[in-house]
Order: sequence, then structure tokens, then C-alpha cells
Amino acid sequence: MAELIDIAIVGGGPAGLTAAIYGARAKMNTAVFETAFPGGQIVSASWVENYPGFPDGVSGADLGDLFAKQAENAGAVFHNLSPVEAIRREGDHFVLTVGKDEVPSRVVILATGAIPKKLGIPGEADFTGRGVSWCATCDGPLYRGKTVAVIGGGDSATQEALYLTKIADQVHLIHRREELRATQCLQDECFFHPQIEMHLNYNILEITGENGKVAGVRLRSKADDTEKLIPVDGVFEFVGVDAKSELVKDLCDLDAAGFVKVDLNGATSCPGLYAAGDVTIYELKQVVTACARGAFAAFHAAHWLETRGRGA
Ligand code: NAP
Repeated sequence: MAELIDIAIVGGGPAGLTAAIYGARAKMNTAVFETAFPGGQIVSASWVENYPGFPDGVSGADLGDLFAKQAENAGAVFHNLSPVEAIRREGDHFVLTVGKDEVPSRVVILATGAIPKKLGIPGEADFTGRGVSWCATCDGPLYRGKTVAVIGGGDSATQEALYLTKIADQVHLIHRREELRATQCLQDECFFHPQIEMHLNYNILEITGENGKVAGVRLRSKADDTEKLIPVDGVFEFVGVDAKSELVKDLCDLDAAGFVKVDLNGATSCPGLYAAGDVTIYELKQVVTACARGAFAAFHAAHWLETRGRGA
């Protein structure tokens, strides 16, 4: 068994990295376990315009790098390419299974985030990686001069549709209701953008293909049941997220959708287990709120450890 650490942070996105900064600065022995590399979902966000301090915006990848550098400078230890496979309670501490290693930690902060939902419609699985994507930053450049469809009506769909207009000739934004859910300024930009055609109140029935690649999307109007086929070269789905809470489902309370229930301090129903960011019940899922929740969780986790006496 490895050496007992104070705070194990699972997930290296904005919440986890901010928790790491606060944990390390509180002089807690703090380690971040990350499936891939630090940054989290933000790495695939094309452009972040609402994180304070960057008046012209910043790329998600650059912001993720800056967070990671700051956490490292503060003294947090990074375990990259180290997916945590299980977390269990053992006496007064937790044990994380990381590959062949068993890592004991007095506190765990879960900051595993969320993963994009899939539509589960015909054609989606067949054309995943052949025109169906969940990441405009990663796959957008494949559609230079082409036509793409973006599915969804939230911040992600509108923001990434706008990003895709810089690459593709035309973007079809398809949403299942008359009103978009996105922040008003993103909605306005989409409605008035000459390259974006809106298809409101349409369900997407199928992603069609030709020669092993995406060829179009078949839609049905919710107003009059008529169907239409729009030829597109790529489909980007942004229809919400699912919490990555599997690791703690037997340790603490989750809500009906699987998000981790936490109090304002980031404490879960399991003493010593904290959670922050998109994996939790809080609605406003933004980089700035993830950072704030990461700070709360680490601050209170450190306080909880101090009151129990370090090494107790
Ligand atoms: P979201 O806000 O949950 O929006 C998901 C969208 O997909 C909704 O418009 C929803 O329609 C639609 N949808 C869901 N299931 C569908 C289905 N089966 N078929 C068709 N459409 C479906 O998700 P998100 O846009 O990924 O954002 C997630 C969180 O991250 C939000 O809190 C958001 O504010 C945040 N975020 C923030 C920024 C930013 O601040 N720049 C950027 C990206 C994301 P309905 O509206 O009808 O439910």
C-alpha cells in the first residue's frame, strides 16, 4: 500500500485543479488523479468568453494548461494517465484503486465532471468517428468549406455552432423546442448569423449516411409532423451531459439523474468525501462555478482534516 495522502482529487478539470491549488496551499499533501491529462472537458471548449480576467476570451485548452501549471506550482502532485477504478472506505480513510496500486487518502474530492449525452438515434453509432462528433474543437477542422448540423439548444450547442461557422460554410442548428435554452447573447449571435440556419421545434429522427460517412439528418416537425432531410457532412451533438459519478454511487447520495448531492461546502453524505464541479447537483455548470466549488471543497476538506488532527 502506498503512503497515506491527505487529499486525493479525482479529476483534473477546473474544479479538480482549483481544489488542488487550495489543498496544496493549505499545506495538505495533495494529489490529482487524472484519466488522461489535466484540463478536463474545458480542453474541448473552443473558446471561453465568460471566465473573468480574459476580456477577449481564451481557448479552453490554454485555460486548462494555466490551471494545471498553477496547481503544480502550488505543490500538488499529478498522476496523469491514472484512472481511478474504485474508491472504498477502510477505517478512517479511503483507498483508491489506481491500476495495480492501492492509494490510501484521508479525504477524497471527486471532480470527475460530466460526459456528453448521446441521442441514441439510428445512424449515430454507425457514423461515430465518420461524421458524428461531440467535440467541435477536435473534429471541426475536418469540415472546412462543408455543411454541418449542430443538435441542441443550450450554451454548448450555440457556442460550438458559432465556432463552427469559422470553419464550415453552413451550420444547421437543430433544436427540439421553439425556444433555445442558451444564454441570451449566444442565442442572439446565432439567430443573426448569416451562416447559421435555425430549425426550431424539430426532432431529429435519424442520421443518414452514404459510402460509410454521414450524408444528412432526417427531421420531423413537432408542429405539423412533416419530415425533411437536410444534407450535411457532419453532425455535432450537444444535448446535455451525464454525471460521472459511478465511482461514488455506493458511498454517498446522488440525485435521480446521478449527480452527487453536496452541501454548500462541497461535503457529500459520506464524511471525508467531497465533490465539486459538473459532477454535482449545482445547476450553473460553468468554468467559474466549477473553480469556485473546487475551492470550497478543498477549503472545507482541509479544515475537516485539521479539526480531526493531521495523521489521526
Ligand atoms: P444543456 O444546457 O443541458 O442543454 C442541452 C440541450 O440539448 C437543451 O437545449 C435540450 O433541449 C437539448 N436536448 C436534450 N436532450 C435532447 C434530445 N434527446 N434530443 C434533442 N435535444 C435534446 O447542456 P449543455 O449545453 O451541454 O450545457 C451543459 C452545462 O454547461 C450548462 O450548465 C451550460 O450552461 C454549461 N455550459 C456553459 C458554457 C458557457 O458558459 N460558455 C458553455 C457550454 C456549456 P431542451 O432545452 O428542450 O431541454
